[in-house]
Amino acid sequence: MTETLKKTALDWVDENASYLGKISDAIYSFGELGMQEIQTSRTLKEAFLKYGFAIEEGISGIPTAFLATYGAGKPVVAFLEEFDGLPNTSQKPGIPRHDPIVEGAPGHGEGHNANAAVLLGSALALKAVMEKHGLSGSIKAFGVPAEEQLVSRPFFVRDGYLKEVDFAIDGHIHSHFGTSYGLKSYGLISAEFTFSGVTAHAGVSPWRGVSALDGVQLMNIGYEFLREHLPPTLRVHHVTSNGGDQPNVVPAQASTWYFFRERDYESIRHLYQKAKQVAAGAALMTGTTVQDRILSAVWPVRVNKMLAEIAYRNIRAIGMPRWSRDEQRLARAVQREIGIEPAGLPLEISPLKEAESPSGGSSDIGDVSWVVPYVRIDYPGQPIGIPFHHWSAGVCAGTTIAHKGIAAGVKAIVSTALDVMTQPQLLTRIKQAFRREIGHTTYIPLLPPEVSPPIHLNREIMEKYRPHMEKYYYDPTSNRSYAKMFKS
Ligand SMILES: [Zn+2]
Repeated sequence: MTETLKKTALDWVDENASYLGKISDAIYSFGELGMQEIQTSRTLKEAFLKYGFAIEEGISGIPTAFLATYGAGKPVVAFLEEFDGLPNTSQKPGIPRHDPIVEGAPGHGEGHNANAAVLLGSALALKAVMEKHGLSGSIKAFGVPAEEQLVSRPFFVRDGYLKEVDFAIDGHIHSHFGTSYGLKSYGLISAEFTFSGVTAHAGVSPWRGVSALDGVQLMNIGYEFLREHLPPTLRVHHVTSNGGDQPNVVPAQASTWYFFRERDYESIRHLYQKAKQVAAGAALMTGTTVQDRILSAVWPVRVNKMLAEIAYRNIRAIGMPRWSRDEQRLARAVQREIGIEPAGLPLEISPLKEAESPSGGSSDIGDVSWVVPYVRIDYPGQPIGIPFHHWSAGVCAGTTIAHKGIAAGVKAIVSTALDVMTQPQLLTRIKQAFRREIGHTTYIPLLPPEVSPPIHLNREIMEKYRPHMEKYYYDPTSNRSYAKMFKS
């Protein structure tokens, strides 16, 4: 029974792979940063509407977020993929050397454009199966802005959007095809500390001034000294997000932006509480005042073992995409260009394994993974060893390499969803296993109830670059692929 349903899904994906590739290419061309994904969000919402989904726009007060729903009743599966770009990673797709579409502009230096196509494809393929075979249940497809700033999904959880959900799956582009389970990465609090002082002419009458930047610098120094006496497992890093305007004006305002990362709720809170004390001390020393604002806060990411096992069986059944010689050549060329081993594209499925020790990175999917059983599928679409957040990760993300990866990812996600949706006892056992895995941990959002999403992020950068980027936007109804537009 389930195999017949899966066949319908796989056929749908094969028939629509080119459409999904074009959606991915269009989003690649928009290169929009977190919270400013206006074209991206619009393109996806239009596609969902066209295929009969209901859309709730701007969920959790985030203008570019949305929830697309289809079906009724239980079980409820959630798909949640991010679609934001990265600063200064503009790159012509398919060109294996640093060659920006627009110099200095943002781009897709990781490949979240492909994740967006996976979100759309997973929901549409599952809907096609449900319609054809009269399957009951609901799909909730979340459009997730600003993953790179770790913002959206904790807001969705806090605001109750996951309440009816039974299990969740997302996909992420990678240089392998596989999944893992257990505690995968750290959680964090992202907070900005803004000091206020009194401005003055720094040359003529500096004694009239109270430098907000002094507050920032002493806070940063204070935290660096404190670091020795905090657990060595921490990851804490900061940037001066506002250091004043120019040297001859004593800054009246200055800000420092921190990520406090650890592997559990209490430890993350501890790092943040310590920072508040250091900030108060720095304000006292300098005669400034200080206020902090939490921009986001996320739980560590953990993956349910049973869901990962089901996903893994489906990944094996689907198998690695068949790469062409040209695709392998492109992958090797970009690997050579950045000085890593020219290993090309992956050929084997990665074995299923438990995460050994959590990565010091974070993802805003974290909160979701503590409220419902969750699995992430890494689908192929990147050359082996390519560094993310780098122009080189954009080279293949806008080509047929990503298109083939998207198709493989959607197939694995929908097959996994179908296994669970068609076997109620299996879902019950997954939920029991999930509760055992969570153990005595009580999920309390790290995100305070009063915090509103930082929708101002990246506004100025996008305002600067968007007019130059618009000329290169890709129309997904075009017959040519985006990469072809840059072939010399
Ligand atoms: Zn990512």
